[in-house]
Amino acid sequence: MRNYTGQGNRQVITDIMQRPMRDLRISVTDRCNLRCTYCMPREAFDKDHPFLSRADLLNFEEIERLARSFIQLGVKKIRLTGGEPLLRRGIERLIEPLAKLNTNEGKPVEIALTTNAVLLSQKAQSLKDAGLARVTASLDGLTDETYRRMSDSDVSVKTVLDGIAAAHRVGLAPVKVNMVVKRGVNDHEIIPMAGHFRNSGVVLRFIEFMDVGCTNGWRMDDVVSAREILEQINSRYPILQADPNYTGEVAERWRYTDGSGEVGVIASVTQAFCHECTRARLSTDGKLYNCLFASNGADLRGPLRAGATDQMLGNLITGAWKLRFDRYSQLRHAATGGLSGEESRGKPGEKIEMSYIGG
Ligand code: SAM
Repeated sequence: MRNYTGQGNRQVITDIMQRPMRDLRISVTDRCNLRCTYCMPREAFDKDHPFLSRADLLNFEEIERLARSFIQLGVKKIRLTGGEPLLRRGIERLIEPLAKLNTNEGKPVEIALTTNAVLLSQKAQSLKDAGLARVTASLDGLTDETYRRMSDSDVSVKTVLDGIAAAHRVGLAPVKVNMVVKRGVNDHEIIPMAGHFRNSGVVLRFIEFMDVGCTNGWRMDDVVSAREILEQINSRYPILQADPNYTGEVAERWRYTDGSGEVGVIASVTQAFCHECTRARLSTDGKLYNCLFASNGADLRGPLRAGATDQMLGNLITGAWKLRFDRYSQLRHAATGGLSGEESRGKPGEKIEMSYIGG
């Protein structure tokens, strides 16, 4: 295992399982304009929920400074997320400096963003102008009824589709669309969604419903496995597996045999990919989390605000990453793989919420 030794250093750090740090997900707000039942259920995220105050949030200069440290340690891609990142006022002013950063190899750091696309129509052009490379949009169904059941909001599907179209038009490409599938709630929309996005240039990816956080009442019975999803699609639109774009890609890629594009599945529950996870996560208030399912993070905001040098920040990040041995999804799979019903529920009270750590 090698160490970070300061400014200009080009060494790669690895964790206990020899996984390098390649991707950084930054949550820029813990707030959202939707209340998806699987992510921010209204009962838990109501008006009494203690959302972070403005002073708690990392400001843009702080985020940029930390991003530079992460990049020196090997990060090549940054994804802005949340909560809903387009709710963070002036997000373009954060994207601009980030998009000018280079990796240790001298290539531009790729800046992407995950959004529910509610505000994307009006923001797509300014995001592109600021230097954003790509967007991933979330859409869990094509009918307003299904969308309402998943997002617990009155937003229309048309609003989201318009946002996706705007992103595609301005070149935030390839636009990807994430659909979380919950049994009995939106699984009847798998084929219509596949049909809608074939031939569009937009890459649809189906995500297995995960037990993130402690509030979404996850049960294995609600998970529609990636295999099941692929079988459904294949029976209607024949598909063949495609090679990954790069090692460690979370989505498994499949191509329609008639040339009408590709779909992906993210099988984080039934085929955990912890062994090749290279993602670090920076929470809205500046904590470094080594896993989406972590309970504790390393505070970077405190030292940053107390005047830590770049080298000190780099050492803090290195120290946290070197101790990383998280592989929650693989352990969960071992623990709940054969279970269903009440016995498969995740243990409550420990994991942090996805809206805070960043999805
Ligand atoms: N607000 C943005 C959005 O809607 O895309 C970004 C944050 S959201 C937490 C990021 C992604 O995580 C979304 O695609 C969402 O569907 C997914 N997600 C949230 N909770 C999930 C869960 N329990 N299982 C699987 N995916 C989940």
